[in-house]
Amino acid sequence: MHYITLPSELVGFTNHSSEIVKTVSNRKMYLLHGELKAGAADSLCPQCGGSMHIHDRCEVNLRHLCFGDKLSCLRFTKLRYYCPRCGHSHMQGVPFQAKGHRISCELLTFTRDLLAYGFTNKQVAYITGLGRNTVKDIDLERLKEKYTVDGERLIQPERQARFLGIDEFKLHDGHKYAVIIIDMETGHILWLAHGKKKASVYSFIEHVGKEWMEGVEAVACDMNSDFQEAFEDRCPHIQTVFDFV
Ligand SMILES: [Zn+2]
Repeated sequence: MHYITLPSELVGFTNHSSEIVKTVSNRKMYLLHGELKAGAADSLCPQCGGSMHIHDRCEVNLRHLCFGDKLSCLRFTKLRYYCPRCGHSHMQGVPFQAKGHRISCELLTFTRDLLAYGFTNKQVAYITGLGRNTVKDIDLERLKEKYTVDGERLIQPERQARFLGIDEFKLHDGHKYAVIIIDMETGHILWLAHGKKKASVYSFIEHVGKEWMEGVEAVACDMNSDFQEAFEDRCPHIQTVFDFV
């Protein structure tokens, strides 16, 4: 049996013993048994400030980084606390667990880096030993953080656009429409909205700000569209350019 002891950056975790097991997909995995130290904040009731009691404990398995070709998994016990004064209960915090996933923060970082370097979801799933759905979720989170604010709206344009293009596209189900605003000189999408045409233009203008809009010289759109009206409303200096026929 080969043992490894983690030189751990995993705050509060002490690795007692390790064993090599096989996963369902027949990969070798270090099962790293250990203990998670409770912090002072864990037993303090966030509701009433009272002192909480340990109510029960449960086993946690958190996938962690790979060591060579072997996967790893941290196994420890987590405490559930109960406040006798107000009835509040919560689980002990795990500072190194990635939010929303049963993996360590380190494995999340590694996975996101692999995705950022252009590995496909399938390759990343193999390298990390994570399920395809988990990789897909992590990739989606990564893209949302990169390209949007609050997970919905696209981030501010990187450069001043002089010439915008705006159009409405039918989405796959045929009922929903999406308004897309692009920088005609770079092709980059600046805005994607699912609302009404005019409202989409107004929210875009609000998002980029008046000063930025002043740098825009022209916008290409369909003739007599709500888009034209909306731009004329808010930014009369912008020239409207219709279909190039
Ligand atoms: Zn309480």
